[in-house]
Amino acid sequence: MVSKKRYSYRNRLFIPMFTVLWLSVIALCTFHYFRSQEYRKNVLKSNIDLITQNILTIYDDGDINRAEKFLEFIDSYYINTDYDDVSIAIYDVATGEQIGHAGFPLPPPDRSLSGNSGVFKATDFKTSIDSEGNPIDFSRDKVFYYRIDTTADGRILVQTVMPFTSAIKAPLTYSFAYTAVIIIAAIVITIFMWVFISHLSKNIVLLRDFVTSAVNDEGFNKDVEFPSDELGDISRQIIEFYQTRSRALEAIEREHRIALKATEDKSKMKRQMSDNINHELKTPIGIIKGYVDTMIENPDMDEQTKHHFLTKTSQQVTRLTEMLNDISTITRLEEAGSSIPVEKIDFHDVVFTTANDVVESGLNGTMELEYDIPFDSYIKGNFNLLAEVLTNLTKNAVAYSGGSLMGIKMIAKNKHFYTFSFYDNGKGIDPEHLPHIFDRFYRVDSGRSRKKGGTGLGLPIVKNTIITLGGTISVRNRKGGGLEFIFTLPVWND
Ligand code: ADP
Repeated sequence: MVSKKRYSYRNRLFIPMFTVLWLSVIALCTFHYFRSQEYRKNVLKSNIDLITQNILTIYDDGDINRAEKFLEFIDSYYINTDYDDVSIAIYDVATGEQIGHAGFPLPPPDRSLSGNSGVFKATDFKTSIDSEGNPIDFSRDKVFYYRIDTTADGRILVQTVMPFTSAIKAPLTYSFAYTAVIIIAAIVITIFMWVFISHLSKNIVLLRDFVTSAVNDEGFNKDVEFPSDELGDISRQIIEFYQTRSRALEAIEREHRIALKATEDKSKMKRQMSDNINHELKTPIGIIKGYVDTMIENPDMDEQTKHHFLTKTSQQVTRLTEMLNDISTITRLEEAGSSIPVEKIDFHDVVFTTANDVVESGLNGTMELEYDIPFDSYIKGNFNLLAEVLTNLTKNAVAYSGGSLMGIKMIAKNKHFYTFSFYDNGKGIDPEHLPHIFDRFYRVDSGRSRKKGGTGLGLPIVKNTIITLGGTISVRNRKGGGLEFIFTLPVWND
């Protein structure tokens, strides 16, 4: 497999910028080098031209003495300068004789070059013997600038020559200083670029690491400080998106777990319920069978005993009927809870009507029943089911509390819920039983409960009804004695 080399973001930014910068520096220095060399050449050429022209003008004016003075002046003027090596020679065209010269000696000029200026090499000289007959050492200066020209009358020829190499020393020196400045500036820019790109790429690496760990669901470091620029904005948006996504995933997972648990609980409850139902039904049926069998086996049983047995059998049938009714109620609540009709109900009316029914039918026994529910306490509910809840709680208080007073009152109200308390002043329930009294078929004292005709389904029905209507219910012992059920019901909102 061919693995493609990956450059880091920093290098991908830095390398091209570095290359462009340093190529520009090289181009600039090269350009400067040639330009300054060109400039120097031009200065050199124009000086040579000027010297030549000056001498020719002097001859044209016919002032030969001035020509000699001028040559002397040039000799002394240029001494120890770049033009130290300038060589000027004046010839009489007719005789070919050199009539004056300054600087180092050179061979006589090629007359055909008269009127020209330019460059010639040491090898272009036809001879290496100077005008005075001495050999010339050309090894030092290989290239020469020259100007050869004659006076207007063509009698005098002037040759001014300057070796090129000595003249370009200066531009090279100058170029180095200039180049040094450029290089130092470029080094500073490179360092600045490196720092800046490192900073920029650090943020990108941070973002990359962050996104990688987010994608791998490894969580992320919340302390990472992103810059306050576009990159930082993108990073923050990604974090926000990631967090929203994580929260949504968590919520879905939580809901999923809750739903799963609810389904498991439901099927477990159903299993338990049918086990319990079987068990609970067996008792009255067993008793009924016992009485009926005894009567069959003893056909001569006296009337009084027979009547007693039949009365007991009838009681067990009633109990069985009640139990079946309760089982059907609880199953209905469970199976069709969401389809139970709810409407706007004044809870004051429910309490008022139920309290009247209880007292009129004597269901309250010896206990006093008080209530304090404000008018117009509109809830979302079902009148009959709530009346059933209150009747159940009342029956229980009468049957088990042993108190003299029971009551119901509103204890709190907010935008969404009313909170009510149903209480008695009896003996309450031992704390270890409290967590279980809403369980199906749970009885604190089963013997006593059975005697009172209890099925163990009263409080489960109460709880299921309240929950089906969208409320909650809990139970606690009161400080001053007795039991208190606290339940909420949803406020009716138009
Ligand atoms: P049951 O059908 O046996 O009455 P419930 O579910 O209605 O079953 O009640 C469960 C148990 O809670 C009862 O057996 C009883 O012991 C206890 N209980 C209910 N209400 C009260 C109360 N007001 N005071 C004391 N004990 C109570």
